[in-house]
Amino acid sequence: MSIAKVEPLTNARALHGPFDYRLPEAMAGLEVGSVVRVPFGRQRILGVVVGLAESSELPPERLAEPIEALEAGAPPELVRLGLWIAREYCSTASRGLQLALPPGTGAAGQRVRSRLELRAEIAAAGEKALSGGERLGVKQRAVLEALRAGEMSAADLASAVGADRAVLRRLEERGLIATRSSRMRRRSAQPDVGATGGCPELLPEQVTAVEGVVAALDGEVGAQREELRHGVTGSGKTEVDLAADEAALARGRGAIVLVPEIGLAPQAVARFRARLGDRFAVLHSALSDGERYDEWRRLRSGEASVCVGPRSAVFAPVGDLGLVVIDEEHDASYKQEGDPCYDARAVARKRAADCGAVLVAGTATPRPETWLELPRLELPRRVDGRVMPPVRVLDMREADPRSGPLHPDTWEALGAVREAGAKAIVMVNRRGFAPWLTCRSCGRHWDCPNCDVSLIVHRHSGRLVCHHCAHTEPLPRACADCDSTTLSQAGVGTEQIEALLAERLAPIPVFRLDADTAAGRGAHARILAAFGEAESAVLVGTQMVAKGHDFPEVTLSAILDADATLRFPDFRAAERTFAMVAQLAGRSGRGPAGGEVIVQTLAPTAPSIVHAAGHDATTFLAEEVERRRALRYPPFSHLTRIVLKAEVEGRLDRAAAELADALSDSLPGETDLLGPAPMFRVRNRHRRRFLLKAADREATIAAVRDTVENLAADRVLRDVAISVDVDPQ
Ligand code: ADP
Ligand code: ZN
Ligand code: ZN
Repeated sequence: MSIAKVEPLTNARALHGPFDYRLPEAMAGLEVGSVVRVPFGRQRILGVVVGLAESSELPPERLAEPIEALEAGAPPELVRLGLWIAREYCSTASRGLQLALPPGTGAAGQRVRSRLELRAEIAAAGEKALSGGERLGVKQRAVLEALRAGEMSAADLASAVGADRAVLRRLEERGLIATRSSRMRRRSAQPDVGATGGCPELLPEQVTAVEGVVAALDGEVGAQREELRHGVTGSGKTEVDLAADEAALARGRGAIVLVPEIGLAPQAVARFRARLGDRFAVLHSALSDGERYDEWRRLRSGEASVCVGPRSAVFAPVGDLGLVVIDEEHDASYKQEGDPCYDARAVARKRAADCGAVLVAGTATPRPETWLELPRLELPRRVDGRVMPPVRVLDMREADPRSGPLHPDTWEALGAVREAGAKAIVMVNRRGFAPWLTCRSCGRHWDCPNCDVSLIVHRHSGRLVCHHCAHTEPLPRACADCDSTTLSQAGVGTEQIEALLAERLAPIPVFRLDADTAAGRGAHARILAAFGEAESAVLVGTQMVAKGHDFPEVTLSAILDADATLRFPDFRAAERTFAMVAQLAGRSGRGPAGGEVIVQTLAPTAPSIVHAAGHDATTFLAEEVERRRALRYPPFSHLTRIVLKAEVEGRLDRAAAELADALSDSLPGETDLLGPAPMFRVRNRHRRRFLLKAADREATIAAVRDTVENLAADRVLRDVAISVDVDPQ
């Protein structure tokens, strides 16, 4: 008899799987990773086979049989990875496994299938019929002639020669054609930007980088299996990745290239597709479920073996993985925000280590963790030989407040861009028009009814919007408390800067790129394309404008509030600010006209700003590492954050006290337990936060997992949601 150990796809924390099922003869072919529908209590739910056994501890008559097996499952390697994530990030087996499954496999049992299409091919008798002048209908003859050029789908035949299925059926009955059903590949309608598949002659530094990867692929003694590729923007890192991917393919191995969520620009996709052809697959959130499923299947079947995609592509079913590249490894989008809060960079390292693949993390602005942990390879020069653009830091504390959010020098530089017919990028850290609305007469201000934050003025839509929940309301004309009509809007956001620039810089067009304008499918790419095609233009937006694109006509990039990110009470604030300013600086001066960078700030002496202005990542990192060592922050300790949420505050406080007690009993020594600290209310839920600072990562995670699982069964925690974030960002 054979037994399948099945982990049910349900998110109950208190459930301890896997559970044994008896396999009928017809399901003897099931493997680890197969997805089955099983009876579970009174329900029928999906589950994943995580193990197979000869016998069970339970008598056979107590075991149920799966009802059916689904079309596609996950490779065993990914099942192990999913279970590892569940443990490592204090989540459930079900949530970990769902990451490994084909797109569209939901716990609720809905699923995506392959789409089939009918394909026709001419038979030898068909060729003879055409040349021998046999009697054929007009449509029949047209079909045969079309098929002489090669196999076609029924849909293509219908549009090419107007032949319907009946014509094909009759031809097949006469033995003149053969038809078959085949899996169809749904392709995204996203326009492919032109890219040449040409491969430039690599510079010596690039050659060294490729050789390093090849040596590791070939398992040479002394070759680095993990590497930080530290190279300024435009130093040819992507070109090195392409060559390394080709090397992996030539050795019959696959590759995964992770890119930031927003960085998957059509240009980048086109570049990979042009070089790697059909061996290339792309997985990203702009694809429909069907398209994503088809790309997944192409990887799973081995038809494609290089996958490019954001965070979740770390679970791409690439067989015989030889290389994993993490592009722009500093990017915050590699951390998943919902449970499991996995970090794709850590998962990539685990996966690469388990399958003997080479890992490369590339960036111009490495994280201190990566800087310390991985051996480095430097690509210090831009391929075009251009120097990095000069950076001017403007002290906004000394600027005349009447000049508004832009320093007079910034206006002057923008004016020069207009005169020269060039382009500029302007970044501001907040979207909307203004972050505060207040009544001048009575001081009332407008807060979100569901969250403890102020509502943001959005003039474009004429509404007040909460950036933490879905709440919006019409922009008031008068104060609700005192009827005064003198309402003041304080602070600036992208909409306001857009309006200011459009007015002062006319006639050159101003494009805005932020979460509001980029919301629709393909909108992000359309805005960038419009900016690219314009002769002279300004692009205004949030951090999105600093990421993943290359416009040689940009001669000025400016950030208006470079200290906004520094004010967060977060030990990564400096690292974030450095990366943001350095990335924005990298957008300017990529063409023959050169360029410059302006940084407006209230904190001109902050190390992150000074070193970013000097394009000096090495000094910044050296200082930042020492600061972290002194304060015992990662990587010199391990952080875990636990957040409790509830609508009723009293319940929340009792739960927090209970958790604090349980944790202080179970945590290993040398662990600081900070909290519970109040956090601002979001979506009508009050929140409390604990932060653990630990020396022993494994022991702390295990203690947190056990504590949370025990409490999940406790009545005190009823109606209290608890989330655990290991290595919070
Ligand atoms: P990065 O990823 O470091 O920003 P890319 O690989 O995208 O750099 O290179 C920047 C530009 O320079 C691209 O247009 C690329 O095609 C080109 N490039 C890269 N390497 C070379 C080379 N060796 N010779 C000529 N052009 C190159
Ligand atoms: Zn008022
Ligand atoms: Zn809200």
